[in-house]
Amino acid sequence: MTGSNSWTNDADRDARIARALQAARDARVEFVHLQFIDIPGTIKGLTVPVERIESSMTEGVWFDGSSVEGLARIAESDLYLLPDPDTFAIAAWEGPTIARMICSLVTPGHEPFPADPRFVLARALADAADVGFSYHVGAEVEFYLFEDPQDGGNGHTGRAPTLRPADSRSYFELPDERAAALCQRAVSILRGLGYRASATHHEVSPGQHEIDLDEDDGMRTADAIVTLKLVVRSLAHQVGLLPTFMPKPIESASGSGIHLSQIVLDRTTDENVIFEPGRGSALSPLGQHFVAGQLAHARGMCAILAPLVNSYKRLLGGDEAPANVSWGRVNRGSFIRVPEAQSFGSPLLEVRAPDPSCNPYLALAVLLQAGLDGIREQTPLPGPDEQSARPGMVEGEAAVDPLPSTLGEAIEELGWDMVIRSSLGQPVFERFLAAKEREWLAYRHHISSWELESYLENA
Ligand code: GLU
Ligand code: MG
Repeated sequence: MTGSNSWTNDADRDARIARALQAARDARVEFVHLQFIDIPGTIKGLTVPVERIESSMTEGVWFDGSSVEGLARIAESDLYLLPDPDTFAIAAWEGPTIARMICSLVTPGHEPFPADPRFVLARALADAADVGFSYHVGAEVEFYLFEDPQDGGNGHTGRAPTLRPADSRSYFELPDERAAALCQRAVSILRGLGYRASATHHEVSPGQHEIDLDEDDGMRTADAIVTLKLVVRSLAHQVGLLPTFMPKPIESASGSGIHLSQIVLDRTTDENVIFEPGRGSALSPLGQHFVAGQLAHARGMCAILAPLVNSYKRLLGGDEAPANVSWGRVNRGSFIRVPEAQSFGSPLLEVRAPDPSCNPYLALAVLLQAGLDGIREQTPLPGPDEQSARPGMVEGEAAVDPLPSTLGEAIEELGWDMVIRSSLGQPVFERFLAAKEREWLAYRHHISSWELESYLENA
């Protein structure tokens, strides 16, 4: 596996640059998108003619960071994009002579810029490497495809559009031709980029689909997730569909999650240290502390895993989304599931709370740091919860802590959790918190149509 990034694997950078340049020549590339990730997890970037990519990789490309909302303050606005040569690939969804590279953000002195989400994850991976572990993650990314309201005749009126799912199928049914073609093309493009996209299937609700990425180095999986969203969006718009990674677009239908399956490997023996060797899905003592650490910080990191006002309408319990800070073997309502069944012979540790609106770099960083904290502190693992799908008490057993019920509660919890705050670092924490406080305040001010319908005449 070829996990690497600018901070942990610089030794052979010259050779990697040479490989990227050769690939650009072989494909007669004309333009290269230099992409970076902002704090909400969106891909941003600029495009350079191919003649500039060598100097981009050796010297970096200047840009004004302060014009990217929430990224840099005026005083630190001179930033450079430093492309990761391993991410050079043809942007097949755009055309055969367009390539893309994912960049790290660095200061004029080529130091990592601390508000770069890739740096936050690189630091967490380096912390894991310091204690002998590497962190591999797979992802099941769910999303909806709707008919584009513009094509459907009700136009962009400024009001929320009426959502018409692009098909009326259900779980594992064969999707209709348009959706099938789109998802298969997305899988094939992702594979062409070197990502481990392994399957796609229809999800439970009409118009809802899933694309799966097999376990890979954490940085590559985060790169793959943001790329997957970009590719699906671009392909959907090409065929007149509206894609959404919003966690709960329809009140009466399933939400969209992004389940992350985690593997922690011993860097010398390559063994998965989460499970007892030869005992299937039995957690090792170290695995128990890792899970316990993630549960102990579940409420504190929830704002990172599920970052929108809308995320908390998915986490109410039911529809196989989690509502409690618990782990279970079969309970799909738990925060972490450790199934007895194994995927292709390897046991999994599946975190179910994240949704596809999260910034995957920050999500993986806080999950990993919370797990490492559990190992360091030898946090004891509570018993499994196989029953509760809704927040609160489990019949006849002790109370289970619920996940935060609103974004407001989640950002308050983030403020209290010093492990999660220091995993993000002060610059990301401050910027993230300020953006989320604004979002929460805007939502609190909003008078919804539900309120008007319920109260206007009856209050
Ligand atoms: N859509 C569900 C969620 O919101 C998950 C369904 C599944 O288990 O695949 O998490
Ligand atoms: Mg699913």
